[in-house]
Amino acid sequence: MLFIPTLISLGTSMDLAQKIQQLKKEKKAIILAHNYQRPEIQDLADYTGDSIELSRKAMNEKDAECIIFSAVDFMAESASILNPTKKVLLPRKDAKCPMAKMLTVNQIRQAKTKYPKVPVVLYVNTLAVCKAEADICCTSANAVEVVNALDADTILFGPDKNLAEYVAEKTGKTLIPLPSDGYCPTHLRFQSDEVKVLKMQYPNAKVLVHPECTKEMRLIADFIGSTSKICSYAKESNIKTFIVGTESGILHRLQKENPAKTFYLAFENAVCPNMKRTTPKDIYLSLKEEKHLIDIPKATAKKAQISLERMFEIG
Ligand code: SF4
Repeated sequence: MLFIPTLISLGTSMDLAQKIQQLKKEKKAIILAHNYQRPEIQDLADYTGDSIELSRKAMNEKDAECIIFSAVDFMAESASILNPTKKVLLPRKDAKCPMAKMLTVNQIRQAKTKYPKVPVVLYVNTLAVCKAEADICCTSANAVEVVNALDADTILFGPDKNLAEYVAEKTGKTLIPLPSDGYCPTHLRFQSDEVKVLKMQYPNAKVLVHPECTKEMRLIADFIGSTSKICSYAKESNIKTFIVGTESGILHRLQKENPAKTFYLAFENAVCPNMKRTTPKDIYLSLKEEKHLIDIPKATAKKAQISLERMFEIG
């Protein structure tokens, strides 16, 4: 069933919002927005979530023929791989994840040659061509579960070194980072000193941190988890104040789902510029002109799909 959101953010003019709703009906489209998107995009979307939550939503939307995936390149690619009969559109062609670009097919092949019997686990924050080389994918929500499920004590893991480190701590396995220094530039900017200052101001606050942050941030955290897990934790907790260590866009969802609670960003400028590229006008143009279509060569998509489906079988 296609869902029409009732809440239109002040950031989108009524006229533009109506045009988008009209086009959505005509094209049998749904709009999916990542938790890090601008608030006005989240309010326009049918669903907001992390990349795999959104791809799963897309798979269950039987009536939809077209998916506007408001996020960055690798996420729209995953949606397309998992929904091969649907048109998947990325509103901004230049919305690319710098961390995903840090890993190349050559690096994976070289690592496989060097460690022939070691399985390759790739974070979903990778391009389709890389996923096609992996044994299995994982998200930040299920990485520990995926690595634990493998019958191997040493694992090649990419591209986020911080997530690899966190998973190694949790599983006791040896994770070889691939590349050796992959990172998310936005999560790298969080510093524990700034959290300490906030903790002095709000001593009862719980600190919620994404595993893409550095170890010093993980050590200061009360809870470490993916964006979806951070949202669930905040909702279920009796605590009223939180300091949040992930991209700024998540605050909109947290505040909307928990109006009686207060959230402070652990670092004010934790903004992923790529996640913030898409505007309501881009959504409108994407629907109207059907751009930019995600088109992955069939053989690559098929192999990447296997890596993603293996992950779903575990998680
Ligand atoms: S927040 Fe980090 S991992 Fe996510 S899209 Fe931006 S750069 Fe990539």
